[in-house]
Amino acid sequence: MNGQLPPSSAPQAGDGPEGLAILPEHFYLNWSRRLRPPVVIQENSGQAVPERWLQQIWWHQRILRDKLTLIDGRSLQVLHPGFWNREAGPDFREAVLRIGDAAATTGDVEVDRAESGWRSHGHAENPAYTRVILHVVWKPPITHQAPPLLALEPYLEAPLHEMADWLEDVAPSLLPASVPGRCAAPLAGVSTAATIELLTQAARIRLKRKAGDFSLRARHVGWEAALLEGLMSGLGYRHNVWPMRRLAELTADRIRPDASPSTTDESGAKRIIGWEARLLGLAGMLSEPTRTQGGPSHLRTLWDAWWQERAAWQEQILPASVWRLAGVRPANHPHRRLALGARWMAGGPLGDRMVDWLNGDVQGKAGAAELRAILEPIEPEDSHWRWHWTLRSPHLSRSQPLLGEGRTTDLAVNTVLPWLWARASTGDRPSLIQEIERRYFAWPAAEDNAILRHGRQRLMGAAARRLPGRAALQQGLIQINREFCESAGALCSGCRFPEMVAAMPDGNPH
Ligand code: SF4
Repeated sequence: MNGQLPPSSAPQAGDGPEGLAILPEHFYLNWSRRLRPPVVIQENSGQAVPERWLQQIWWHQRILRDKLTLIDGRSLQVLHPGFWNREAGPDFREAVLRIGDAAATTGDVEVDRAESGWRSHGHAENPAYTRVILHVVWKPPITHQAPPLLALEPYLEAPLHEMADWLEDVAPSLLPASVPGRCAAPLAGVSTAATIELLTQAARIRLKRKAGDFSLRARHVGWEAALLEGLMSGLGYRHNVWPMRRLAELTADRIRPDASPSTTDESGAKRIIGWEARLLGLAGMLSEPTRTQGGPSHLRTLWDAWWQERAAWQEQILPASVWRLAGVRPANHPHRRLALGARWMAGGPLGDRMVDWLNGDVQGKAGAAELRAILEPIEPEDSHWRWHWTLRSPHLSRSQPLLGEGRTTDLAVNTVLPWLWARASTGDRPSLIQEIERRYFAWPAAEDNAILRHGRQRLMGAAARRLPGRAALQQGLIQINREFCESAGALCSGCRFPEMVAAMPDGNPH
């Protein structure tokens, strides 16, 4: 058998009933087959099935679920297939499985075309795969070691060639029924206005909690250091939050209060080089350039600055193991993020500049642009970071910003505004608090990302309604996710959020 569609004829005039239509009857179908040739799979030929098909089959559970048996003979019950992880690491997270007579376990699932992928892809030695509780492959292997293994082929709901069209064209745009949580149905019955209000209230809680964290931290290290730690953590963006924060802790007391934010004068440029060298050196990311790397380079300049003070910092240099680089997008690479942090530190304390920004009469997009100008000083045309993602990466064809609009929004709603709110509340300044909240709730939405998408799909399912593009609503979604979903897991076990939805004035009684 083969998974190919029936042979397609080239588009020809006269395919349709004469005189009834301008286009032949199968015009679209024939052309789409011609332009997008189907994936051909010869079943039982040993030819590899595309891995994305196996992932779709697992995600949508297009298998005989009540008959599943592992290669080692134990039965398998899939209580939840997990959530598809589109980033580095195992393919599915938070799956809930029962193997044999054991209690249900939560963990990750990795899908590979063949069992040998476990070793050849390096999963066996990769710490990101230690939570894998099931390896899913296409055919049973001749020999097998850990982890527990399921071969999909014997359990397909229908022969592969019958599923080929669905796998190729339909499945990628479908949200499996396992993704929306228990609250999705009742929330669908709530008006959009009430949903917006709910998210807004959740966002206010998130703002105050973050502000509370800043107040506590400022008691120990002062407002300036607390702000710097928050901003550097934000630059760590999920994967590298802690090492970035650690660098802020190590260096906060070195920031000169009298430093000018200018990067164009000679002393400003020199300060930046000094800070870049210090941060990258402390991060353990600077090594002496080899001779083969040619004449003067940015790396050489930094190394020349770093080796002079390296001995004084020796004890504090971070080990390479604290950094997570796999799956980090080039724009978020720690090299770039530290280069930006160096500009902040070279510019002196940021707190006063944040307060000035708050006191300025800037509204909407202009306010966001002005904050970005503070956080992302203008780079000279020949700056290394305009033209290279990392210290050693090749020259780019297009100049790239060090921060960008999306990250500015993240830093505004997660750090700058909560920090200002904390400071204003300590000083009992109700009008300032009002202004901070006005900016917070009006701030334009951040770029969509995996966390937001996941949160939206869990709470609202495939028919996620159109909500106003405001960052605060995204923050509200994250707050609900953190408060309820994280502890409840994929099966929403014990989650009481649906009760809150039911108690809303137009919530569904249930
Ligand atoms: S855990 Fe709770 S809030 Fe999260 S999706 Fe499930 S029911 Fe909704």
